[in-house]
Amino acid sequence: MKKLKKSLRNSQLKGKACDMPEQRKVPIRTCVSCRESSEKKTLLRIVCGKDGLVRVDTSGKISGRGAYLCGSAKCLRIALKANKLGRALRCEIPEELKNELEKYVAVKASGNQGNGNEGHL
Ligand SMILES: [Zn+2]
Repeated sequence: MKKLKKSLRNSQLKGKACDMPEQRKVPIRTCVSCRESSEKKTLLRIVCGKDGLVRVDTSGKISGRGAYLCGSAKCLRIALKANKLGRALRCEIPEELKNELEKYVAVKASGNQGNGNEGHL
């Protein structure tokens, strides 16, 4: 019980100290399309590996040149149409990967909608 109280107090202290630069610890990346900065983990990473292959990096651990998309369908379309992704990665984006990216975006979008519908039902 004593431990619980102590941790409660600590969390309250943390809540007060919101001016602390805790954000520095969170890696921030920029969407190549809308240029909006977000936490790395919320962005979709696309990597051009050392073997020259472009792939979606869901683990965030593939080494190579990376570019980030915020995951909105609009951004993906712009990134592909204006070749922002290709320029950021300095390589060509294969059709296969474009389709894969569209799937990722669609899943993300439908996932959000699904949650909303569940609430209504
Ligand atoms: Zn974006």
